[in-house]
Amino acid sequence: MANEDDPTVPVVCPECDTESQVPLSSVGETVESHNERLHDGEEVAEIDPAIAERVQDLVAADLGLLDDAGDSQ
Ligand SMILES: [Zn+2]
Repeated sequence: MANEDDPTVPVVCPECDTESQVPLSSVGETVESHNERLHDGEEVAEIDPAIAERVQDLVAADLGLLDDAGDSQ
């Protein structure tokens, strides 16, 4: 159930051809779970690149998402 005080961000998955609105507070978890379940842990789904720059800092600061992407390359 969406809380109007909790901003949502669009998450897109080019392989699934889906887009969904995910609360900012859980977007990292949602993206990670999606990728683990459907894409064998590959980083396929992501925050819509059109706004990713804007929310990236918030998400990274909140969840440590960027610092945790160590072993994909
Ligand atoms: Zn997907």
